[in-house]
Amino acid sequence: ELNVEDARNMLLYIADKIIANKPYLTEIDSAIGDGDHGIGMAGGMQKAKRKLLKLEDQENVYRIFEEAGQAMLMSMGGASGVIFGSLYLAGAKGMESKNVLTAFDLAEMEEKSLAAIQERGGAKVGDKTMVDALAPAVEALKKNADLGLLEMLKQAEEAARIGMEDTKKYVAKFGRAKSLLERAIGHQDAGATSVYLIFQGMREFVE
Ligand code: ADP
Ligand code: MG
Ligand code: MG
Repeated sequence: ELNVEDARNMLLYIADKIIANKPYLTEIDSAIGDGDHGIGMAGGMQKAKRKLLKLEDQENVYRIFEEAGQAMLMSMGGASGVIFGSLYLAGAKGMESKNVLTAFDLAEMEEKSLAAIQERGGAKVGDKTMVDALAPAVEALKKNADLGLLEMLKQAEEAARIGMEDTKKYVAKFGRAKSLLERAIGHQDAGATSVYLIFQGMREFVE
């Protein structure tokens, strides 16, 4: 399990990973989107990082995710700000009294985040969005939580990777890529790539 300080360090680790992948994410979004995904994600993660570094009293796990998600939501704006802000923010609800994060807690958090993202954005698996990576990752978390944090995260990372790869097969139902119709096929979704990097980051941090 992770204590509050570990949770903070994990989110800082993920932020650095996304910031390092800014050119890659932008390149992916350039092929079928408007080429700003890396800029948006890196900017949001930069703000989240600043906020996390300023948190002084380590009250609870919820505050760590809430502060990071809030910073992303406020700074990124637009649809992806809400979507990726919710990834941290929505799941943190109900964690108010926790000062450790178990594998089961993380699985529950991510499940709640997915539900909120789907409720807000309306995307299903196969619509060529970040949901294509997040939904299978959440399935893997729930199925493997009893194996402990590291083994669970290994499974989730692999599920997210397959989901991300699968986005190449789909036409897009959202965003600029939608207007490309079948010309979007063969290209990977940028948001799904970010989700994969986030799960990979969690696994690398725990390992
Ligand atoms: P924008 O599309 O406003 O330029 P970004 O480029 O930052 O924003 O993010 C685009 C990503 O957002 C897409 O690759 C997709 O994964 C994700 N996305 C877009 N719309 C939705 C939605 N309704 N539900 C879930 N994810 C979505
Ligand atoms: Mg974009
Ligand atoms: Mg844009």
